[in-house]
Amino acid sequence: MKCFVCGGEMSPFMEKNFGMKYLAACEYVRCGDCGLVVAKTLYDMPRSDWESLNRECHAAYQHTDALAVDPRWLERLQAQAEILAELVKIGVLDENSRAVDYGAGDGKLSDYFAAKIDSPPLMKFDAYMANPNENYLSAEDLLPASFDFVITCSVFEHLLGANDVEKIFSLLKSDGTAALHTLICEEVPRDPNWFYLQPVHATFWTNAAMKKIFHQYNFKACAYHVESRLWLMFRSLEKFSRLKKSARDFVCAEEFVDYWKIKPYRQP
Ligand SMILES: [Zn+2]
Repeated sequence: MKCFVCGGEMSPFMEKNFGMKYLAACEYVRCGDCGLVVAKTLYDMPRSDWESLNRECHAAYQHTDALAVDPRWLERLQAQAEILAELVKIGVLDENSRAVDYGAGDGKLSDYFAAKIDSPPLMKFDAYMANPNENYLSAEDLLPASFDFVITCSVFEHLLGANDVEKIFSLLKSDGTAALHTLICEEVPRDPNWFYLQPVHATFWTNAAMKKIFHQYNFKACAYHVESRLWLMFRSLEKFSRLKKSARDFVCAEEFVDYWKIKPYRQP
C-alpha cells in the first residue's frame, strides 16, 4: 500500500481488537516518509460495511455518551463558534460569504455561531446525519470552488484517502479559507490503547503529512488557535494579514503551523 499523501511505502504498524460486528480487529499501517498512519482494515472494507459501522458509532457518539467520550466537546464547539464570530468582525467572513460546516453532525457549531452572529449563516452538510427538518445542504449543493469558507470539525480522522480530502478542499474558491479541527501530531504513537484509536478513525495525521496537503491545495498561510484546537488555512495572504493584525491567541505562519511536537499531543 502506498501513502495517499506522499506516495511513500506503508508498512505494518499495529493492530487493535474492537470486537464489533463490522470491525473485529483493525490493522494500521504507517508511511515511512511522512508518518501518516491509516487503518488499512477500514480502507479495505466494503463501502456498505463502512457506512454501517459509521451509523452505529456516530449515533452512539452524538446522542448518548458524547460527553463521556470527549468531555470538552461542547466547550470546544463554543470556542470554535467564537473564532468564527471573530472572523466576521475582522472581515475574513462577510455577509456575502458562502460558508459550510462539512460533516456538521447535528449542527451544533452552526447553531452556536448563529447565536453570536447571524450573517453569513454557516450552512450545514453531513453525509450521514443530515436532519430533514433542518436546512442542510445536499451533496448536489456542494459545487466545486463555490465556497469562501469550509470548516470541518472531527472529520479528517474519518477520511478514507485522497478522494475524500479532495471532496472537501475542492469546495473552496481560489481565495477561500479552510478551518480544521482534528488531531495532528508529530508522530503517531505505536500504542493500541491510545485514546484516538476509535473504530471509525481511519486516518491519523502527522505534521509532515498535513504540510504536504497544505501545499498541494495552495494554502499560503496558517493560524492555529490553541484553546479551540482549530487550524485556519488561508489561500489569501490579505485575509491572513487581517487575522494576524487583530486576533489574539493564534500561532501564525506563512506555512502549516505544526503546533503539536511533543506528547501528549492532545488530551481527550
Ligand atoms: Zn506519506
